[in-house]
Amino acid sequence: MMDMDIDTSELEDHSYQCLDDCGLCCLCQPELDDDELEIFKEAGLENRLTNYHVQGQRTDEPTAIKLQGGRGACNFLRGMRCQIHDIRPRPCRHFPVQIHLLRRVQLNANLACPGIEKGGDVLSAFGKDIISNIPQDELKDVFERTLARVRDFDERTLDFSVYQDPGALKELGVQLIDDMKDQDWISRLLAWSNEEPYDIDVKSPDLLSSILTHDTEPDIQVIASEGNYDDMDLDDLSQIPVFVDNDLEWTALRAVKGNLEVMKMEENGSLETLHTIPFDDVKLLPWSKDAHSGFKDYAHLLNNRDPFMGYVYQVCADQDYQFDLATVYFGSMATTMLDLWWRASLVGHLKGAKKLDNVLAREGIRSYDMTCLCMPTIGEFI
Ligand code: SF4
Ligand code: SF4
Repeated sequence: MMDMDIDTSELEDHSYQCLDDCGLCCLCQPELDDDELEIFKEAGLENRLTNYHVQGQRTDEPTAIKLQGGRGACNFLRGMRCQIHDIRPRPCRHFPVQIHLLRRVQLNANLACPGIEKGGDVLSAFGKDIISNIPQDELKDVFERTLARVRDFDERTLDFSVYQDPGALKELGVQLIDDMKDQDWISRLLAWSNEEPYDIDVKSPDLLSSILTHDTEPDIQVIASEGNYDDMDLDDLSQIPVFVDNDLEWTALRAVKGNLEVMKMEENGSLETLHTIPFDDVKLLPWSKDAHSGFKDYAHLLNNRDPFMGYVYQVCADQDYQFDLATVYFGSMATTMLDLWWRASLVGHLKGAKKLDNVLAREGIRSYDMTCLCMPTIGEFI
């Protein structure tokens, strides 16, 4: 058995208190471990389970809780109260903390949760308590399996000459983000990665300046609109993005025939259209100084997140190891930040704002982070 490095740094300096009438985390379909499945069977609750997991996979027997109406909240939520609080599955007990395994165990804070506040040590203490309650042998088993997949990934990237040391990538990421002077930073990063440079030396001092002074060719407005349209153009309504706004309403987003439908979602899955706007009307709004600072902090968070690295690994594998890992890493960072900017701009558009302030930036982050922590990864969430 190997030692596990457990990183809880993302939870530090944050507090958390679950808010009445929020219920956002009950829109995520909880999946059950074997021991939890037995408890549900003994409690006669099997008919409330399904073998269809909204993440796309199916299992031989029902192992996930059904959503109301196939797309609303978890089957056990009534009036924003959990009916099975004492036996709720692990992801519900852990939220807003998520545990991800890659080369180490990392605890992340899902910033979609409006109960998280900056300051204090409540979230960090909560995370440590979660880890201490997970049987260490089980954790080590999953960790060893994950590590084997990561080693296989490393070997393949070396075979294809696209390998980059993850620590060096993150180090370059810190320097790049520290130098994020304005919103053109996203365009420069995207333009550089779109050129698909090869044989990159991420430790070369010239690389940083060549990225930061790169031209800003890509039409990021078009890229942002098209990318988000594709993400929201979904027939399966269990997959559409939903976030909780400042008034704790659940807001669902769907792209239909060139338009964006902004809908209020109820726990039974019913949808009420609040706005229908031409998709292209959502323009990327300029950043205020505060918004700039909020986005910069989020980029640093992303750069330190193992689920993001695991997502980049997955993208690299899906692209058959054809591109240098540095271009996949920084290209993914640019598109992720662009998606986030678009989401914040959408909230601003709905409120008639001409510029993003720190409140809108935070709403964008809240709307985006649930998506970010659900991205496919070579690692594993437990
Ligand atoms: S998202 Fe956060 S505040 Fe909302 S119900 Fe879940 S834990 Fe509570
Ligand atoms: S089991 Fe309870 S806490 Fe978990 S998603 Fe369902 S209603 Fe929410």
